[in-house]
Amino acid sequence: MLVVDSVSKKYKKTLANDDVSFEVNDGEIAVLLGPNGAGKSTIIKSILGLLKYEGVIEIDNFDNRSIDAKKLLGYVPEVPALYDMLTVGEHMEFIRRAYKVEDNGRIDKLLERFELADKKKKLGKELSKGMQQKVSICCALLPDPKVIIFDEPMVGLDPHAIKELKSVFKELKEQGKTVLISTHMIDTVEDYWDVAYIMKNGKIMASKHNKPESGSEKTLEELFFEITEA
Ligand code: ADP
Repeated sequence: MLVVDSVSKKYKKTLANDDVSFEVNDGEIAVLLGPNGAGKSTIIKSILGLLKYEGVIEIDNFDNRSIDAKKLLGYVPEVPALYDMLTVGEHMEFIRRAYKVEDNGRIDKLLERFELADKKKKLGKELSKGMQQKVSICCALLPDPKVIIFDEPMVGLDPHAIKELKSVFKELKEQGKTVLISTHMIDTVEDYWDVAYIMKNGKIMASKHNKPESGSEKTLEELFFEITEA
């Protein structure tokens, strides 16, 4: 479970997060929506413990900056950060050893799933942006994190990878994991989400649960445009 409680972050004069609070439960997929500059990256960096902020963030009741929390947390950044001189296989082996994951064939399964099995010997710098993104997803999934954050995960992926990633989201949910997906592209958000938080000007402006429409209720898209175009 992820708890963000009254988090504020200022960069000099810019209040990038203004008293942000939200929760994502086990077995839940949350989407964090908002236009560029809304404050999504700032809250993600705060959750990852990369920024100083005011407020409280907890991962399964552990302070997010503790080792216990970091062990539970996975992250797929918007821009993949691979090592130029490590191969795809070496990236996976590096993560496997760093997180003490058992050598049980999980690496090959992940690489096959994302059509990277034949790229195992390619260097990071030899991969296209989309392939780098896929390696980054495989690296994040390998330690089987309890709470996982995806920042703009669909950008640059081919249709097969998008399909696989959506089925990964579904599996993570079924396994009771906590999933947070941040995006500014409302049209990439389909029906896999359970709860959506819409951000603007550093604040959570609205939240919506994905349940059968109750007639007069606004769709997520309507709510998003109402808030972001206001
Ligand atoms: P989003 O990810 O939703 O596009 P950000 O969290 O990146 O939004 O940005 C929120 C606000 O904080 C914006 O006004 C942005 O210009 C500002 N900002 C982000 N990073 C920095 C930084 N390192 N220094 C100063 N201002 C920043």
